[in-house]
Amino acid sequence: MEAKSFDLNDVVEMKKQHPCGTNAWKVIRMGADIRIKCEGCGHSVLIPRREFEKKMKKVIVKSNSEQ
Ligand SMILES: [Zn+2]
Repeated sequence: MEAKSFDLNDVVEMKKQHPCGTNAWKVIRMGADIRIKCEGCGHSVLIPRREFEKKMKKVIVKSNSEQ
């Protein structure tokens, strides 16, 4: 199975939207844990990478590193 590709500063859509009604999260920290920030209200959460990969639906906006 191919790993989902995402990068720092990408904006991603999750399977569940944030209670504020927004479903756009910016990846602001990469590592064993991923920190994402809600584009709607600015709330940020830290998620273990494995869990993030399960909950992430797709990348909406790629960061400027075009690969
Ligand atoms: Zn929010």
